Amino acid sequence: MTEPSLLTPVLSANWDEHQPWTLDTYRRDGGYDGLRKALAMHPDEVIQTVKDSGLRGRGGAGFPTGMKWGFIPQNDGKPHYLVVNADESEPGTCKDIPLMYANPHVLIEGVIIASYAIRSGHAFIYVRGEVVPVLRRLHAAVREAYAAGYLGKNVLGSGFDLELTVHAGAGAYICGEETALLDSLEGRRGQPRLRPPFPAVAGLYASPTCVNNVESIASVPPILNKGVEWFRSMGSEKSPGFTLYSLSGHVTRPGQYEAPLGVTLRQLLDLAGGVRAGHRIKFWTPGGSSTPMFTDEHLDVPLDYEGVGAAGSMLGTKALQIFDETVCVVRAVLRWTEFYEHESCGKCTPCREGTYWLTQLLTRLEHGEGTEEDLETLLDVADNILGKSFCALGDGAASPIQSSLKYFRDEYLAHFEHGGCPFDTAASTAWA
Ligand code: NAD
Ligand code: SF4
Repeated sequence: MTEPSLLTPVLSANWDEHQPWTLDTYRRDGGYDGLRKALAMHPDEVIQTVKDSGLRGRGGAGFPTGMKWGFIPQNDGKPHYLVVNADESEPGTCKDIPLMYANPHVLIEGVIIASYAIRSGHAFIYVRGEVVPVLRRLHAAVREAYAAGYLGKNVLGSGFDLELTVHAGAGAYICGEETALLDSLEGRRGQPRLRPPFPAVAGLYASPTCVNNVESIASVPPILNKGVEWFRSMGSEKSPGFTLYSLSGHVTRPGQYEAPLGVTLRQLLDLAGGVRAGHRIKFWTPGGSSTPMFTDEHLDVPLDYEGVGAAGSMLGTKALQIFDETVCVVRAVLRWTEFYEHESCGKCTPCREGTYWLTQLLTRLEHGEGTEEDLETLLDVADNILGKSFCALGDGAASPIQSSLKYFRDEYLAHFEHGGCPFDTAASTAWA
């Protein structure tokens, strides 16, 4: 059994309290103390603190947050912007939405600290428009923060001015890609821009812009408040700190589990009551469907950037989707691929055409109408997308194809032999 101490509730610490989203509750628990400490420091010292903490971006890529802030040029005479990417939409990913819903003030406090550090006078939170309750809660919390003097002119008498705008997106997955998000925020159709220049050099309205994930920014106030050593006492050397793991699928108690980076799925499953009774794990994703899948052989892989990378996948959004032996891997991959085909913005040929052809091939295979050569064609199309597309959506679409064929080629073949999906009939037990 895993000891309960494995959990490190920081961002989720007050989720079970009565109305944790109010300013009063947040302040009672020490909220906005980190901001007071930050405002007493020079902005460069704040950046250095975040660099020293080793905090890595929680949106999926794991880029060092302090380093990203440090890229913003100083004394360049241009406005600087902070943009929070709250357009969470990777399949299985569901951590930022509950975080903003339960504790919007930790995000707002992080926004103020980050804006002060990068000398930004205007910050934006770009949130998925479909999640109306979260949108309302953010608006209410921003109003509270203005009224209490945390936002607006002369924040807490420091001389620092900050405006914060909450902007609702319209539900396109591609608008979670940082440069497409910026285009959307500027009022244009959201399509990725060529990088470089990265947003830190030319972002919103062509000005230096930091685009950070919700969880990354929300992790900043506790770091300022409790210190770098405290943060580094959790996690691993290169991936320090706590994080939110989202467990979904065939698990007894799905939900958010806040624990140090570097724990394993086996440990998290112990906390979550294991795979549903009478079943065993077949495959799982470490970070949403864009990351290559794992199997039951990977239960002890440390869930940090290095550990997952060494095992051949990516930590991504830490959305752990668990599938037991009753699930057809071909069907699961087809569902994901349909999603990517639908969400492809169409800007580049490998992704626009490739995701169409992947869906056609997978549909045929799932219905038992394919041939063994189709498997090679699938891999060939995936290979022509991976690393050859304009943005990470294309790579994400190709990843489950390659990894599922690596681990479950026999199951693809069984579809031809069976003349259809073996999971659709009594014969499915042969595969269960
Ligand atoms: P990336 O590695 O290209 O960039 C990560 C961040 O670092 C970006 O903000 C980028 O601007 C910055 N950066 C990188 N190199 C830089 C440089 N030389 N100078 C300045 N800044 C630099 O990754 P990405 O394409 O932004 O994101 C891909 C990730 O997004 C995937 O790993 C995936 O897990 C994740 N993702 C998340 C969701 C979600 O819903 N949260 C959805 C889809 C994908
Ligand atoms: Fe658009 Fe796909 Fe190309 Fe990204 S990879 S720019 S989503 S077509």
